[in-house]
Amino acid sequence: MQLLRDPSFQRGVTEQALRAATTGRVTRGIPALSNIDRSKFGVAIATLDGDLVTWGDSHEPFSVQSLSKLFSLCALLRLVPSSWTSVGWSPTLIEYNSLEGVEARSGIPLNPFVNAGALLVTDRLEALTGDAVCATRELLRLSNPAAAWRVDAMVAKSEAAVSHRNKSIGYQLASYQLLYADVDRVLTSYFRQCALTANCIELASAALFLADRESAYRVLPKRLRHQVNSVMLMSGTYSGAPDVSFQIGLPTKSGVGGGLLSVAPGQGAICVWSPPLDRRGNSSGGLAALSIIASALDWSIF
Ligand code: GLU
Repeated sequence: MQLLRDPSFQRGVTEQALRAATTGRVTRGIPALSNIDRSKFGVAIATLDGDLVTWGDSHEPFSVQSLSKLFSLCALLRLVPSSWTSVGWSPTLIEYNSLEGVEARSGIPLNPFVNAGALLVTDRLEALTGDAVCATRELLRLSNPAAAWRVDAMVAKSEAAVSHRNKSIGYQLASYQLLYADVDRVLTSYFRQCALTANCIELASAALFLADRESAYRVLPKRLRHQVNSVMLMSGTYSGAPDVSFQIGLPTKSGVGGGLLSVAPGQGAICVWSPPLDRRGNSSGGLAALSIIASALDWSIF
């Protein structure tokens, strides 16, 4: 970790990330997020033994978007460990919000990180707890009680107003009778969950339980941590996952708010934030930074 504290190392990572970010585009899918400052860049690395290294805009909250899918999945698995049979664990080789993947499998999602799977997770949490956002926040509070885990209602409303694609997926799932809750309720809850805000430090700390091999965190049993990390590696960065696995070698989840969250089993967690996205919906600068940091720490799982 010593190297990571070196200001010239941090400067080098930031410069390379910001250069990579010039090739990306800030999300256009959610109007309220389309004006985020594209030069924002923050990093937090938290270790299981309590160390924390941060720099840049690591204290600034951002819209977690699909990073929330990781925590809602864990909230569901805590309640129903066999949920994999309904949400799937196949790799994503198509767009995360594709309708095709759902249709080809008679409505069964590929995995919990594509939108169809995430909507199904939300539906199950609504049915089981009556409030999926609350259930996801409870899981987040178990792993990081200090953070506010606030929902940005403007962002949720903004996505709800334009997200015809997610609405189509919701109705597609409903048409296969795969939802227990009312489809509009599932969509509203999903948009609110995606609109949770947190900073890099809060997110890296919240993901530590997934890196834990000793069960000190008591959030999820070992078998489920193994399964979540495996699906994250295969699908957490959508069609970019093979590249992330090949180049970085860490289970990683991305969000269109520009966040990337990686788990290094037995070591710790890394969160990077840089808003411009590549064509697959992953943070361009974030991937560049993650690659340098993971390699400097020798944190690949392979
Ligand atoms: N709320 C976004 C959507 O459903 C999340 C996508 C993402 O962050 O990758 O399209």
